[in-house]
Amino acid sequence: MTREATLIAGDGIGPEITQVTLQALDALGVQFAWDEQYGGMSAIEKAGTPLPNATLRSIHRTRLCLKGPLTTPVGGGYRSVNVALRQEFELYANVRPVKSIVPGGRYQNVDLVIIRENTEGLYVGLDRTFKVGNDPKALAQATSVMTRDGCKRIARYAFEYAKRHGRRKVTVVHKANILKATSGLFLETARMIAKEYEGQIASDDKIVDNAAMQLVINPAQFDVIVTTNLFGDILSDEASGLVGGVGLAPGANIGAEAAIFEAVHGSAPDIAGQGLANPSAQLLAAAMMLDHVGELEAASRLRRALETAIVKDNVRTKDLGGSASTTEFARAVVGRL
Ligand code: NAD
Repeated sequence: MTREATLIAGDGIGPEITQVTLQALDALGVQFAWDEQYGGMSAIEKAGTPLPNATLRSIHRTRLCLKGPLTTPVGGGYRSVNVALRQEFELYANVRPVKSIVPGGRYQNVDLVIIRENTEGLYVGLDRTFKVGNDPKALAQATSVMTRDGCKRIARYAFEYAKRHGRRKVTVVHKANILKATSGLFLETARMIAKEYEGQIASDDKIVDNAAMQLVINPAQFDVIVTTNLFGDILSDEASGLVGGVGLAPGANIGAEAAIFEAVHGSAPDIAGQGLANPSAQLLAAAMMLDHVGELEAASRLRRALETAIVKDNVRTKDLGGSASTTEFARAVVGRL
């Protein structure tokens, strides 16, 4: 069966890691009819806008997208295309699994999933500067928006995810001691939902600064973490650092109408075009996409091939302490498939 899906290769290292991912999917024998579209910097070059209508139309039609990282200018320029896509398609759940793969790393027993609310909080785009006197940026203000419904659906998603994946505990991470209204609403609602799962899925909660520290001290205590947009963004990069870095961290953006799969990392302009990028995160994102469309067997074959290439064949890219190029690593994974 051939499924239609949108493909955005992305910026920086995006095309390199996407090419490897397509090779692996080919080797698996899973057919996708790719509708290739553009986003970010490469879309500006091709279509004069970072998020062309054709890209949006394609995802509206296919409801399934594999996306490379997109560059977002820091401190000015166009708004994040990633955030815009998450809002356009109401991809409210950002699922970011973090698992020890590489032996000899700092932690051998990390196996946790961060479920980040993806459409609300400080990412709603209410972030502006004000002129006072002669200084056009004398004051800056960001507004965080949380809704009861938004909190309910992400908390429910986390508990349902835990049930579906045989997980035992959901930890709610918040800052309700300081952000009493926004983070307070999130915590109160998540506790309410947790009650519905009593006896099935355990639940506790932690203030975000403590959670960040506990992740470093004893990451094995965490199973599923559910948290708000900004905290989830930061904690998932931190968690990926426990197991070898962002090169190994995939992410899924899930909504009722569409799903977009991507690596957690960005476009890595510092190594783009040098053949150094680790394609594992994008490969693992493709495995999440295979799970999503019900190709469970192909997904686990892909994960197994990747782990075998890293652990048994000892083929590793530079970020994992090895010397393999992107192409050499791809050959090892495809060879195992
Ligand atoms: P980054 O994740 O691109 O890079 C951080 C560090 O990790 C760099 O040293 C980079 O070389 C390294 N790295 C990242 N991915 C790697 C890989 N696959 N293999 C080996 N090393 C890897 O983060 P950044 O530098 O803060 O951001 C660069 C750009 O990416 C920015 O424009 C940012 O907005 C964007 N970004 C996009 C996404 C996305 O599309 N989902 C996510 C994060 C950042």
